Amino acid sequence: KQEQYKEIRDEPAVTLDGQEISLYVNAGLQVDLPHLEEAGAHGIGLFRTELQFMIASTLPSLREQIELYNAVLDAAGDKPAVFRTLDIGGDKMLPYMNLAALKEENPALGWRAIRISLDRPALLRHQLRALLTAAAGRSLRVMFPMVAEVAEYTRARALVDKELARLDKFGKPRPASIEIGTMLEVPSLAWQLDTLLPLVDFVSIGSNDLLQFLFASDRGNPRVATRYDLLSPAVLSFLRHIVAKCEAHNTPLTLCGEMSGRPLEAMALLGVGLRRVSMSPAAIGPVKMMLRSLDATKLGAFMEGLYGLPDRSVRAHLAAFAEEHGV
Ligand code: PEP
Ligand code: MG
Repeated sequence: KQEQYKEIRDEPAVTLDGQEISLYVNAGLQVDLPHLEEAGAHGIGLFRTELQFMIASTLPSLREQIELYNAVLDAAGDKPAVFRTLDIGGDKMLPYMNLAALKEENPALGWRAIRISLDRPALLRHQLRALLTAAAGRSLRVMFPMVAEVAEYTRARALVDKELARLDKFGKPRPASIEIGTMLEVPSLAWQLDTLLPLVDFVSIGSNDLLQFLFASDRGNPRVATRYDLLSPAVLSFLRHIVAKCEAHNTPLTLCGEMSGRPLEAMALLGVGLRRVSMSPAAIGPVKMMLRSLDATKLGAFMEGLYGLPDRSVRAHLAAFAEEHGV
């Protein structure tokens, strides 16, 4: 199998019916960067910036952040790289930040990610400064984690504008282009898309969080984490709603949660209309192999019959489709 994955590494990621699929890798540390080339991916769909903060013993300095972001942009070259701003809190604690002192009953629903960034804007501004500096003269793509309402996105984006004004004030070069987007990983945001989408350059679905909130089922608790099948009418209908809204607004949409790295799940994602997925580098080969043998139009039509199923048979139906069509 590994040999076969290598063989198709430089082949196009196109389905049998001619749909071009963008395959991106998730990354977070310098050591991840060579995987982009090795996997033959189209770019970095999710760069988890908090990892640098989590392995450090003190808050990374502006210079240390710039160095890492520079390395990411160098590794990406002409390919896109999407930086996600700090996603800390919840289960991602920084011992030196004194957040650990905060005991929360429900950390996943607590003071985390964009909520911390907006309440402690100096931290986010510092990070944005590093990103804008590293991307001078190049393309910068940034997104925010755990946005639950449009106003949070707007406030975070305003901090980017403030940092841009600061660059100008000091006569420092700007990035050649800037795209700002948001993760969609809190279900409430899915019901504000008509308001949100005109304000963003792209959206990326964080299915790990989105689906734990959708099912009210802790992704880190082994007793319930796998209780609900992601290949279910609820998930597929929800994703279809998001895809339709993004298509109507012409907003690029990616999914960067773990489910995109499993071939059958990835197949279902293409069936609901996603055309960009981001995953761990090792999953690129298997997913590419799958999609190159898939007729996505045929699958889309087949899946029309799955959204209303009253039982847990979606996975079996999808597996049968894959088997029957040699996917
Ligand atoms: C997600 O929630 O799906 C996601 C990609 O972010 P993380 O796994 O880092 O929470
Ligand atoms: Mg998440």
